[in-house]
Amino acid sequence: MKKKILAVANQKGGVGKTTTVINLGASLSAAEIRVLIVDMDPQGNATSGLGFKRDEINPGIFETITQEALIHDSIIKTKLKYLDLCPSTKSLASAEIEFLHWEDREKKLRLSLSSLENKYQYILIDCPPSLGYLTLNSLVAATSVLIPLQCEYYALEGLSDLLDTFEEVRKYLNPMLELEGILLTMHDERTNLSNQIEKEVRELFRQKVFSTVIPRNVKLGEAPSFGLPIILYDIKSKGAISYMNLAKEILKNE
Ligand code: ATP
Ligand code: MG
Repeated sequence: MKKKILAVANQKGGVGKTTTVINLGASLSAAEIRVLIVDMDPQGNATSGLGFKRDEINPGIFETITQEALIHDSIIKTKLKYLDLCPSTKSLASAEIEFLHWEDREKKLRLSLSSLENKYQYILIDCPPSLGYLTLNSLVAATSVLIPLQCEYYALEGLSDLLDTFEEVRKYLNPMLELEGILLTMHDERTNLSNQIEKEVRELFRQKVFSTVIPRNVKLGEAPSFGLPIILYDIKSKGAISYMNLAKEILKNE
């Protein structure tokens, strides 16, 4: 199996990036694939959603980027045997400004992750809702990008900026970067709007859209408050089944 680094990105807020990182990561790890989640968001939602208190953690990904710590020392184990986390700490909040002082400021994360060599088969990066240096570093470090799109009226707003950034990164910084796919999230099959958005996105992006659709599911919203991925919170829920299907689809596409 080829090592993959997936950046889960969309500068639009609240579209399901973190939910996807946690639950895709957990689903892959349930298949005994070694997975690392890297929390590049100063909000630290992937860190807290896996049951850790951001304020009590040090070092994290920022200390690794600044080379104050080795990446191996900032990685923590989760409740799932094959799933590890490189957490977000408080210091990440000032990262966007710190980056400005550094040379090779787009390549910091790539450099940090390179020392992991083949320890993980999948690395999933949770990006913040912006197109700043944290997201740029994630795109430069990644082998592919997964874009969650929420099935609501403004779903496509901002997508062209993200795709422009993707093309720029491919052109100047990371020519091997691929589009893993577009993932429809928070889909409500009872509403015309969700179905209409799905149809529109599939017509526009065709085979780039995952067949798996993530439904709006209350359990998916509840699980992070217990610090659990959905497969440990309610494995029979529609949310758990959909993320396991996404993991299968990604593995099949390899
Ligand atoms: P941000 O841009 O702030 O980082 P995000 O893109 O990471 O947000 P999430 O945090 O994953 O988005 O999701 C936003 C909110 O919606 C969260 O409260 C989450 O629990 C909830 N949510 C995400 N996906 C679903 C779903 N399929 N069904 C129900 N609730 C969901
Ligand atoms: Mg998030």
